[in-house]
Amino acid sequence: MKILLNILLALLLLVSCGEATQETAEAQNSVVKQNILPTKLSAKDSIPKNTNMDLLEEDFSIEYIMGQFDPTTHKDFVEISTQYAESKGMYLRKDTYEAFKKMYAAAQKAGHKMVIRSATRPFNHQKRIWEGKWNGNRLVDGKNLSKTIKKPLPRALKILEYSSMPSTSRHHWGTDFDINDFENEYFESGDGKKLYDWLLQHAASYGFCQPYTAKGQNRPEGYFEEKWHWSYLPVATPLTRQAKEKLTDDMIKGFKGSEMAKEIEVVRKYILGINQECL
Ligand SMILES: [Zn+2]
Repeated sequence: MKILLNILLALLLLVSCGEATQETAEAQNSVVKQNILPTKLSAKDSIPKNTNMDLLEEDFSIEYIMGQFDPTTHKDFVEISTQYAESKGMYLRKDTYEAFKKMYAAAQKAGHKMVIRSATRPFNHQKRIWEGKWNGNRLVDGKNLSKTIKKPLPRALKILEYSSMPSTSRHHWGTDFDINDFENEYFESGDGKKLYDWLLQHAASYGFCQPYTAKGQNRPEGYFEEKWHWSYLPVATPLTRQAKEKLTDDMIKGFKGSEMAKEIEVVRKYILGINQECL
């Protein structure tokens, strides 16, 4: 009995010590946090905080996430005026379009010109792009990949530098678009650089983010950098989260090379391998 009591006593002591250690750790942590936070914040001061981040709490269907719908008849979509787009027949979500128009007006006021080159692309549109590159009808870096890369895995990886597998593109969602030029160099000098610098300063305050930033330590996986591609986070963030929950690599099918999706881990590396500021 005495032994049992001793064991109980010892246990009680251990538990209370554990709690005390935890509390101390938490207290220390908060001190550390208080010390670290101001420097962290000041380092980020140059990036405007997103003021338009009420996320759309909608449960999107897997068909929507995978681009299996027609934006020309979908109630949430609208055709972009040729005032903003380089040609007719491009669509965005209405919420994204409204936010874009506000950002466009502000950019114009600051002396910058934006034109949408590509917007919503449903599954079949993305399939034409992907299979064109797969078959060699669309050249990649000036090359016919069906001749230069015979093996399916490296061929898929080459296309994935800049193009999504159908079912996995943010362009399916109506929240993402490409502006002005499909070369990063355009955004690195002259008017392109002025616009890009303006976007880095102001796009977030309209809800927009560049998902495909330079690859490196902070973004080890996914597409190459695309300074032309911008995303409307209040809708795209819930969509990214829901894609993570609902979409798996084995659901990606219906086009040439789709059997590579699983080996590549397309969902994890390409859908989720985006700029962390866009999550
Ligand atoms: Zn794009």
